[in-house]
Amino acid sequence: MLSSNINGEFDWVKIVWNPIVPSKIATFHWLAIQGGVQVKEFLSYRHCLRDSSDDKCVWCANYVESIEHLMLHCSYSYRVWSSLFNWWNFNWVIPSSIVDFSIEWNNGMNIRASRFWALIGPATLWAIWLARNEVIFNGKYTCSTIIASRIKIKVFQWIVNAKMCPSHQFYIWASHPWELL
Ligand SMILES: [Zn+2]
Repeated sequence: MLSSNINGEFDWVKIVWNPIVPSKIATFHWLAIQGGVQVKEFLSYRHCLRDSSDDKCVWCANYVESIEHLMLHCSYSYRVWSSLFNWWNFNWVIPSSIVDFSIEWNNGMNIRASRFWALIGPATLWAIWLARNEVIFNGKYTCSTIIASRIKIKVFQWIVNAKMCPSHQFYIWASHPWELL
């Protein structure tokens, strides 16, 4: 189950299998850590790309679509992440890998903020993946601001369902989320 570059201290329960995160999204996060998401680099390596020369990112077209590029390093993804960090007034340094991202995501955060922040990470990976698939399968590009809004709404649904926040506080969540801590 463990990827070779993950040591035994990787806390899967804390980092990936959060009971508030829907299982399909947690599974996607797990697959991303394991290098098992079928990005173009993955498919190319297995000679499964329909057009072997088409291994570039759907957004920037400058880099091979690896899981790290797609999720973290592409200028498009960066705008999504930056929008979320600005929403919380946090600073952000792009991790080099999905494993580093998963380990560092909640580091240094106070325990109350990390309850919410632990949901935003996997929700964002999933939202970026869906946005990428919209381009691949439907030719539809969605701006990063809309993706960030969808993530806020999705995570708010999760925290309301988990009774971490009443449903009428969406405005506070969307504008000053730290007031809910
Ligand atoms: Zn790109």
